[in-house]
Amino acid sequence: MTVDAKQAAKEKANKRKKASRARQKDKGLTAVALMLTPAQMGKLDALRAVRGPSSGPYARTEFFEQLLLQEWAHYQAQLDHIKGQCCGMCGDPLPGKEGCRDKGDGNCAQTWARQAFGFGISHYYQNKSV
Ligand SMILES: [Zn+2]
Repeated sequence: MTVDAKQAAKEKANKRKKASRARQKDKGLTAVALMLTPAQMGKLDALRAVRGPSSGPYARTEFFEQLLLQEWAHYQAQLDHIKGQCCGMCGDPLPGKEGCRDKGDGNCAQTWARQAFGFGISHYYQNKSV
């Protein structure tokens, strides 16, 4: 490849990238970078394969998009579950805001509702009633 051909290919690639960024901007897309260890990458690839449709594994970005949509649906279901309920101690509607006078008290529904929105204790949330 001549110097001119290399330069032309580089300019073409830059033009393509610029057009791609413009399309992403038009769609309001935001790129998110993620650094994974080799072990995490192995888990990601295994999950992409088993969670993917019959046509094949999800692309990595597609997997995270699906994960986000699932998590959002789960969060909305949690909100629906407590909709209209209030903490029996402070009286604030759930899920409440920071600053409940009983914040941190295990009997405060806002405390357990907030904890339930975190990862790993959703079983606690599902068994708790106000
Ligand atoms: Zn409370």
